[in-house]
Amino acid sequence: MQPSSPTTAPSIPKGGAASRLDAAYRAAAWHRLAADEFDVVVVGGGVTGAGAALDAATRGLSVALVEARDFASGTSSRSSKLFHGGLRYLEQLEFGLVREALRERELMTTRLAPHLVRPVPFLYPLTHRVWERPYVAAGLTLYDAMGGRSSLPRQKHLSRRAALRTFPGLRADALVGAVRYYDAQVDDARHTLSVARTAARYGAVVRTSTQVVGFARESDRVVGARVRDAEDGRETTVAAGVVLNCTGVWTDELQALSGARGRFQVRASKGVHLVVPRDRITGDTGLILRTATSVLFVIPWKTRWLIGTTDTDWKLDLAHPAATRSDIDYLLEQVNSVLVAPLTREDIQGVYAGLRPLLTGESEETSALSREHAVARVVPGLISIAGGKYTTYRVMAADAVDAGTEDLPRRIAPSCTDKVPLLGADGYYAMRNQLDSLAAEYGLHPHRISHVLGRYGSMIRDVLDPGLVTPELLATVPDAPEYLMAEIRYAVTHEGALHLEDVLTRRTRISIEYPHRGVACAAVVAAVMADILGWDDQTRTAEVSSYTARVQAERESQARDEDQGADAVRTAAPEVRAYLKA
Ligand SMILES: Cc1cc2nc3c(=O)[nH]c(=O)nc-3n(C[C@H](O)[C@H](O)[C@H](O)COP(=O)(O)OP(=O)(O)OC[C@H]3O[C@@H](n4cnc5c(N)ncnc54)[C@H](O)[C@@H]3O)c2cc1C
Repeated sequence: MQPSSPTTAPSIPKGGAASRLDAAYRAAAWHRLAADEFDVVVVGGGVTGAGAALDAATRGLSVALVEARDFASGTSSRSSKLFHGGLRYLEQLEFGLVREALRERELMTTRLAPHLVRPVPFLYPLTHRVWERPYVAAGLTLYDAMGGRSSLPRQKHLSRRAALRTFPGLRADALVGAVRYYDAQVDDARHTLSVARTAARYGAVVRTSTQVVGFARESDRVVGARVRDAEDGRETTVAAGVVLNCTGVWTDELQALSGARGRFQVRASKGVHLVVPRDRITGDTGLILRTATSVLFVIPWKTRWLIGTTDTDWKLDLAHPAATRSDIDYLLEQVNSVLVAPLTREDIQGVYAGLRPLLTGESEETSALSREHAVARVVPGLISIAGGKYTTYRVMAADAVDAGTEDLPRRIAPSCTDKVPLLGADGYYAMRNQLDSLAAEYGLHPHRISHVLGRYGSMIRDVLDPGLVTPELLATVPDAPEYLMAEIRYAVTHEGALHLEDVLTRRTRISIEYPHRGVACAAVVAAVMADILGWDDQTRTAEVSSYTARVQAERESQARDEDQGADAVRTAAPEVRAYLKA
C-alpha cells in the first residue's frame, strides 16, 4: 500500500489538534484507513478497544481504531460506573483481580483521570450481630491494603445510630451497625471517549460508524479488516500487521467472521440499573447490599441515585439489551426491603441495561462466572481479548497489545499508559484551584464551572470559549439544565458525535437523567447539531423522530414481563446508522 499523498488527500493534524474529532477528521480518517498500512487495527470502541489503541499508539505503533456505532455504545456506557476492586470478588477469593483493580483505581483517581474519576463513600450495613463485623472488617482491611498506597480514606466502623445518622433513609430494623468504605466512580461513556481521543492525540486514527464486516487473509494469516462506513455504506480494506478483536459481547461474532473458532467464547449477562432522584432516598453515602446471589448498589450520581444491578443470561439482540418490567420490579423489591420510604415505579427517571461480556466457563450461574479476562491468538494476525471489568481496561489493553507483538516484525516498547494522563488531566488540579476566576471570566456560577471541569478537565476553555463570542452557548439546555448548549456544540466539533442519540445518551447522559429521557430537548439539540453538521430539515426531523422512537420503544419494552417480548419491541425501533450490516 502507498502512504497517503499530502497534496491531494485530506490529512489529520498532528499532536493535540488530532484529538479534534470533527467532520474533517472523519473524512481524513477514512482516507488513511484505505491508504495506510497499520501495525495494529483495533476493532471495537468500548473501553477495552480505546485502551488498546492508546496503549499501542503510545508504544510507537501505527494504529487504527474502528467502532461500528459510537464510542462506548456497547457495555462501556451501561455499567455501574465504578472503578472498584469489587468486594464481592474478594469474597470469591479472586485476590489477583482485586489487587489489580485497586491499583488501577488509585492510578485513575490521582494521575491518569482525576477530572473524571472521583472517590465515593459506601455504607455496608451489617445485619448479623457478633460474627459479621469482624468478618467484614477483615475483608475491608485487605481491601484497604491490597492495592498498595491509596489516597482514599480507609474503612470506618459505625454503630447503628451513627449509620442511621449517615443514612437516615435506611430502616432502623435493616441493620445492626455498618462499615463505611470508599471506592471511585466515573461517567463511563465520557471516560471511554477520553481514552479514544487521547489515542487520537498520540496518532491513532480513530473512527466511529465504521464496522468490520470481514477480514483480509493471506493463506491462514489475517492481514487486515474489511470495513464499512455505517453512514453511507462505502467499504474499504484496512491493512494491518495485527488485528485486535476488542468487541466485548460481539467477540464470537468477529471470531466467526474470521472463519476461525475462538479459543474462548463470550456470553452475555444482562445487568439493569434504575435512576431515581436524589431526594427520594435520604443518605450521604452509597449503599452496598447483599442479595441472594450477588450484591445491589445504591450509588450517588450527581442529583440522582443509580440502583443496580440484575444478572441474567441474555441471548437476544446484543446492541439493544432491553430491561423488562420484571427486572425493574426485582430492583425495586430489593432496595425497598431496606428503605424507610419505599420507591415506586413513578419515582424512576431513567432505566438502562447493559451486557457483561463473560468468558464462558465452569458455572451456569452468570453471577458466578469469573470476571478475569482472557487473551488468545485466534489465527496468526488476529488476537481476541474479552472478559475483565471496566476498572482493569488498561491492563487488558496492554495484554492485548503484548499478545499482538508476536505478529509484528520489530521489537516493541513495553506499555507506558500508567504514565500517560488522559486528555483533560494535565493541568486539572491547577484549574480546579482557579474555579472562582474561571467563573468570573465566563459569567457562570462556580458550581457550573465545577460541573464542566468534572467532565472536560483542563480542556474546559475549548468547551466554553465559543460562548464568549456566542453568549447563547453559555445558556443551559432547555429541559436538561445540568448541561450547557456549549457542551452540545463541543460534542459535535471535538467529540465525534454524529447523531442525536450520540449526544443525548453518551456525550451527555440526558437519556437516563431526565424523566423525558431526552425527548423534550431533542429538537433544540438537533438544531445545534444541524448547523455544524450541515443537516437539512429532512435529516434534522428524521434524527428527532428516530430518537423519539427509540425512547418510546425502550419505555414499551420496560412494560413487558419477558426478555423475548421486550427485545421484540426494542429492536422494532429504527437504527439511526442506516448502513450497519446485520
Ligand atoms: C450492568 C453492568 C455493570 C457493570 N459495572 C461495572 C463497574 O461498576 N465497574 C467495572 O469495572 N466494570 C463493570 N462492568 C463491566 C464493564 O462495563 C465491561 O467489562 C466493559 O465495559 C467492557 O468493555 P469492552 O470494551 O470490552 O466492550 P464494549 O464496551 O461492549 O465494546 C465493544 C465495542 O465493539 C463494537 N463492535 C462490535 N462489533 C463490531 C464490528 N464488527 N466492527 C466494529 N466495532 C464493533 C461495539 O459497537 C462496542 O462498542 C459492568 C457491566 C455491566 C453489564
